[in-house]
Amino acid sequence: MSAYAILDRVRKSGISHPPTVYRALNDLMKKGMVHRLESRSAFIACDHGGCDGRLAFAICRSCDKVMEIALGKKEQAWLLGLAPDELMPDQITLEIAGLCEACRPDQPATS
Ligand SMILES: [Zn+2]
Ligand SMILES: [Zn+2]
Repeated sequence: MSAYAILDRVRKSGISHPPTVYRALNDLMKKGMVHRLESRSAFIACDHGGCDGRLAFAICRSCDKVMEIALGKKEQAWLLGLAPDELMPDQITLEIAGLCEACRPDQPATS
């Protein structure tokens, strides 16, 4: 959901002041209830009702379905390790794009 779509929705519930909405979004992001999709400037509600933000996204480029992929400690450490020495990393944004099951008509059924 884009920030504009959210703005539109909350306007109906009486909040029409954009900074308030952005502040609320920031709050929800800090709590891990909402994640930001950097590549689309969009926000999505957490699949798990709140997580620590250690995750990657898989996005279907055809239907825009977004799936959360939890990152284990090992994967996260490995990814953070890619940062150059001069940067102290504290956030990972990882997005994998492709086609979801429903959007791959010619794929033979597996298993
Ligand atoms: Zn989450
Ligand atoms: Zn799809």
